[in-house]
Amino acid sequence: MNPTYEPSDLESRWYSVWEQAGVFRPEINPDGEPYCIVIPPPNVTGVLHMGHALDMSIQDAIIRRKRMQGYQALWLPGTDHAGIATQNVVERQLANEGLTRHDLGREQFVDQVWAWKAASGNRITEQMRMLGFSTDWTRERFTLDEGLSRAVRRVFVSLYDEGLIYRGNRIINWCPRCHTALSDIEVEYEDEVGELSYLRYPFVDGDGHVTVATTRPETMLGDTAVAVHPDDSRFADAIGRMVRLPLMDREIPVVGDDAVDPEFGTGAVKVTPAHDPLDFEIAERHDLPAVKVIDTEAKITRAGGEFFGQDRFEAREAIRYELERQGFLEKVEDHHHSVGHCSRCGTVVEPMLSLQWFVKVGPLVVPAIEAVRDGSTRFTPQRWEKNYLHWMENLRDWCISRQLWWGHQIPAWYCDACSETMVAVDEPTICTACGGTVLTREEDVLDTWFSSALWPFSTLGWPDETVDLATFYPTSVLVTAFDIITFWVSRMMMMGIHFMDDVPFRDVAIHGLVRSEDGRKMSKSLGNALDPLELVERYGADAVRLALVQSAAPGHDVPMKEEWIDAARRFGNKVWNAVRFATEHLGVKDVPVSGAYPEHPEPEDAWILGRLAEVGAEFDRLFDDYRFSDAYGLLYNFAWSEVFDWYIEMAKPRMKTGRGAASARQTLGVVLRDLLEYFHPAIPHLTEELWFHLSGDELLATAPWPEPPLGDIPTSMATFQDLVGGIRRFRSEYQIGPRVPLDATIVDGTGEAPQWWIDQMDALVGADASFGESPASPSGYRHLISGPVEVFIPIADLIDVPAEQARLAKTIDEAEEQLTRSQKKLGNESFRERAPEDVVRKEEAKVSELETTLAKLHAQRAELG
Ligand SMILES: [Zn+2]
Ligand SMILES: [Zn+2]
Repeated sequence: MNPTYEPSDLESRWYSVWEQAGVFRPEINPDGEPYCIVIPPPNVTGVLHMGHALDMSIQDAIIRRKRMQGYQALWLPGTDHAGIATQNVVERQLANEGLTRHDLGREQFVDQVWAWKAASGNRITEQMRMLGFSTDWTRERFTLDEGLSRAVRRVFVSLYDEGLIYRGNRIINWCPRCHTALSDIEVEYEDEVGELSYLRYPFVDGDGHVTVATTRPETMLGDTAVAVHPDDSRFADAIGRMVRLPLMDREIPVVGDDAVDPEFGTGAVKVTPAHDPLDFEIAERHDLPAVKVIDTEAKITRAGGEFFGQDRFEAREAIRYELERQGFLEKVEDHHHSVGHCSRCGTVVEPMLSLQWFVKVGPLVVPAIEAVRDGSTRFTPQRWEKNYLHWMENLRDWCISRQLWWGHQIPAWYCDACSETMVAVDEPTICTACGGTVLTREEDVLDTWFSSALWPFSTLGWPDETVDLATFYPTSVLVTAFDIITFWVSRMMMMGIHFMDDVPFRDVAIHGLVRSEDGRKMSKSLGNALDPLELVERYGADAVRLALVQSAAPGHDVPMKEEWIDAARRFGNKVWNAVRFATEHLGVKDVPVSGAYPEHPEPEDAWILGRLAEVGAEFDRLFDDYRFSDAYGLLYNFAWSEVFDWYIEMAKPRMKTGRGAASARQTLGVVLRDLLEYFHPAIPHLTEELWFHLSGDELLATAPWPEPPLGDIPTSMATFQDLVGGIRRFRSEYQIGPRVPLDATIVDGTGEAPQWWIDQMDALVGADASFGESPASPSGYRHLISGPVEVFIPIADLIDVPAEQARLAKTIDEAEEQLTRSQKKLGNESFRERAPEDVVRKEEAKVSELETTLAKLHAQRAELG
């Protein structure tokens, strides 16, 4: 066994051993209960970032533990075709050659994206291997693969036939840069200071005017009405009259509509049905025409008269200028409002009337809400249920068409002769209405989230009735960050319940986002992003994984710093050294694969075995509640401060020929074995390697999960640790080297202090201990007390007492002087008034620190006599 732990040596080696042994396949436990996680598919264009590393480290920990517990554990991997993102990558490549996708045409362009995918699209899955994730690669899926594409078409056709998918003119969010519609959640709102322009629309039939307020004066070109609240007395006379639209010389009515907020602006609003969702609804109620004045390039259309061809922001200025010149601009005020931006490119989104495909969500939402209310699907932490329910209760129809080429082309065909729409899984050849044979396919593709909404069942083989689908649906848990509840979780719930008649997952375990150590979002532009792959190179995958899992408190953001990964790596060293020490003393027979806990352990062994069982049970409880940071925090502390710092030190002198040598060896063997097992889900490579050295050739990855039996923990252990700690402190206070022997008299009032303390005090702190009586006076002794037990250590032989007394006296004088000075300062009114608060605080802290030090020094002086 190497004297040092070198992660890079062993990590890739073990990964291929596992993969070749079929460890990642559920078939390895053919008789187990099924347990399944489908991975949130990363974008095929993606590079593994810390967020993925956290999300997947948690999933791997869960699935590895279930596998060891004997479940048929499936963690199903795959990637998402990521519509806009992937199309952008290839379009950028083309741009370098001076080409656009239109130069290639649709078919050639899509071929080129597939070629890109074949060459570069497996980067992220390679990176997942580097981190040791145990996904079943034989079941890997891609949202655009043949099976999943068929599932998408089936779902589309089925929803269409049920009337849950329709095509219609609606106001959608349009990105003029990406040239596509966006769904509501692909729009990011930012608070901005804009300007509120007050425009006068004069009455046609006499004097006076109505003043309307707007932040987007350029849309006035498309106004087809003015609306006021029907109960607003200020406008009681106006409803039903006509006003003249300035600049356009068009007569438009004033209508009364409940949707108007009388508090906004003047209480009268302009109605632009083609460029505002609320106005669109008002127009439907009052049968108003819609005039499109902004086109897909965000330029003014021909309907905008003299402003035709101007960019929307340029037109805003020009129109305001013209209105002012002609006396229609009453005033302009600064105005705070939120402005929607494209989540991909940041361009200001243009609400626009457009013919698009929609999912009618109403009937799908109801059972998806019910399933969370009745506990069929549970969120951890539970507070995220509120977020989910709020979202679902306010969901509007989902715009699913995108004006892209990369994606699932909508399976709809239009008859050239009679305009009939046909929706079908397979391409129709003849019009069902007129028998025409010239059919044109819908050009749009589906929103990427449409295919990922089917992920939990499409990946298992749906619509075919496969064994996997029957075995693993509903899946057990979905692990994801909270920011994706709306995009994804909600939609999987709707589709899963609708098509499978059961929820897609029993549990949703929500974790936070990985942030930089100051709590900010990690980003390349801020330069504070940690790259998990660089960290793997520097510290090994296990260190990165352990640091992440240990920080993953449910639902909380995870501030991450490199130091923690370094600490995890140092912990790896510690485990390495512990096992290396053990292998020098233990034979393979001392480390059975499971069970074999010593039946008549010595007290030290009984203590560590009892603690192992307690910690193991608590670890399992925390893990099952998805409290990974608490679970691994507990285990980490147990390993470090109880097993390594105490137990191994106590076992050392006993293992060869000491008291209960066989019990010591057997105990050390099973404790280390169980520790490796508990740690395996978080740090699989290191534990597998150590397991190999410790116990021979069975794989740890498929070893049974430990179940140490609860036993009695000798109560004398806590007292003993307390006293040994006291002796250690005594040595360090007087700077007495660890090899300098010292005497210790143990005075035990109850007569319960066990004999084994004597040899352990020798082994641990070099104390020649014996049971005895208290000395006549404690002066000249270090006096330790723990519960009913006292220990006296004579000091005179260990140090030069007079010199120590002199040193103490000097130290005490100095400390007292400092204390007086500080107290005087604090007693001074003007200091307290003038000095900054933190300076006063510091001074106060200094006083209390000095008082504690002095108390200790005085006690020391007393014990020196
Ligand atoms: Zn955009
Ligand atoms: Zn036809």
